Amino acid sequence: MQSYDVVIIGAGAAGMMCAVEAAKRGRSVLILDHAAAPGEKIRISGGGRCNFTNIHASPKNFISRNPHFCISALSRYTQRDFIALVERHGIAYHEKTLGQLFCDGSARQIIDMLVSEMRGRGAELVLSTRVETIGKTAEGFELTLSTGSVSCQSLVVACGGKSIPKMGATGFGYELAERFGLAVVETRPALVPLTFDAKTLERLSPLAGNAVDAEIACGKTRFSEAMLFTHRGVSGPSILQISSYWREGDEIRIAMLPGTDVAELVRAARRGNGRQAVQTVLANHLPKRLAQAIAERTGLDGNLADLSEAQIKTVEVAVNDWRIKPAGSEGYRTAEVTLGGVDTNSLDQKTMQAKLMPGLFFIGEVVDVTGWLGGYNFQWAWSSGWAAGQAC
Ligand code: FAD
Repeated sequence: MQSYDVVIIGAGAAGMMCAVEAAKRGRSVLILDHAAAPGEKIRISGGGRCNFTNIHASPKNFISRNPHFCISALSRYTQRDFIALVERHGIAYHEKTLGQLFCDGSARQIIDMLVSEMRGRGAELVLSTRVETIGKTAEGFELTLSTGSVSCQSLVVACGGKSIPKMGATGFGYELAERFGLAVVETRPALVPLTFDAKTLERLSPLAGNAVDAEIACGKTRFSEAMLFTHRGVSGPSILQISSYWREGDEIRIAMLPGTDVAELVRAARRGNGRQAVQTVLANHLPKRLAQAIAERTGLDGNLADLSEAQIKTVEVAVNDWRIKPAGSEGYRTAEVTLGGVDTNSLDQKTMQAKLMPGLFFIGEVVDVTGWLGGYNFQWAWSSGWAAGQAC
C-alpha cells in the first residue's frame, strides 16, 4: 500500500491550494478527484474568466453560524497574497466592478497556475478516481480507492458543496463529516435565482429579459446590483446575493429606482406636461415593458394631471417598495454555492483540523462558511486551503 503524509480528496480550488502549501513544506501529497479534470468549477466560474478574489474581501462578506470562524484564515492568507501569486504567474487581470478581479484571458489560467505549482512542488494529482472506503488507523487513515489502497497521516476533505450535481458535485464531504462524528449545519442552495408561483408568473413572465439596477432587501439585509426578470422568476447579482439570506415564506422588497424620490419625479413631470401618461414618465427611467406593467398593475393609466397625491404614492410604492414572496429557488441545479456545511465548532479555526479527530481536515465550500457573490467564495477556498496546508 502506498503511503503519503497527506491525502486530499477533491482537486478543486481549496484542495489544490492545500496541496501546493503542504508540498512546499516537504510533505508527500496525493490529491485525488473523481472528475476527469481538476478545477472544473474554476473553469466555468465568472463566465469563463474566474472572478478569483475580491479586493475588499473581509469576514463581513461571509455567512456562517459562527461569523468569527473565518477571520483567522482570511487574515493569514489574504486576497493580496493570492493576487501576488497570480502576478508571479504573469496572469493579466482586471477589476470588473465592486472590487471583483477577473482574468483578462481565461479561467483555465488559474487552473494551470495551481497545477503547475502542485507539480513543481511534487504533489501527485490523480484523476478519475473514486474513494470507496475510509478507515481510521492508529497512524492516520487508510483509503480504498477505485485504483488501489493508500494510507496517510493527514486526510483533507476538499470535495466542495452540492451545487451543480451534473458537474460531479456530491454530498460526500458532509457524509464523511457525519461518519467521523462532526456536526453538519443544514445545507441549502445559495447564490441562486428565485422563482415565483404560476399565478405571479402569468403576470410577470412577459417581463423576462428585462433588467434594472435594483436594491433588494430581505429582513435587514440589502444588496444594490442588477436584477433580471426571467421566465421563472428573478435573477441577476442582487437576487443571487439576497437568496443566501432568503428563506421559504419570506417576502423580498424591491426598489427599482433606489435613491430616487419617485413621487417627486412624477410631480415634476406633471408640472412639465400634465397630459403625459404614468408609464411614459416611468419609461424614461425603467425599461418600457416594466413601466407599462407597473401602470397596469396600479390601474393608473390616465394622465398625470388627473393623479391624486394618494395615487402618486401608489406609483412610488409600486416602483420602490414592491413586496413579493418568491415561491422557491432554482435549487442546486444552478446554485453557485451551498450554504451551511461542516459545523465550524467542530474545527480549529487556525488549521481547519477536526477538534476531536487529529489528522482530519475540512476546507473550502464543504465548511459552513459561504461568501457573497463577487470572488469571495474562491478567496475562502484559497485561505482555508492555505491554512490547512500549513498544518497537515
Ligand atoms: P470545488 O471547487 O467544488 O472542488 C471540489 C472538488 O471535489 C471537485 O473537483 C469535485 O469533482 C471533487 N469531488 C466531489 N466529490 C468527490 C468525491 N466523492 N470523490 C472525489 N472527488 C470529489 N466563486 C467565486 O469566488 N468567483 C466566481 O467567479 C465563481 N463563479 C462560480 C460559477 C459557477 C457556475 C459556480 C457553480 C460556482 C462559482 N463560484 C465562484 C463558487 C466557487 O466555484 C466555489 O465556491 C469553489 O469552487 C469552492 O471550492 P472547493 O475547492 O471547496 O470546491
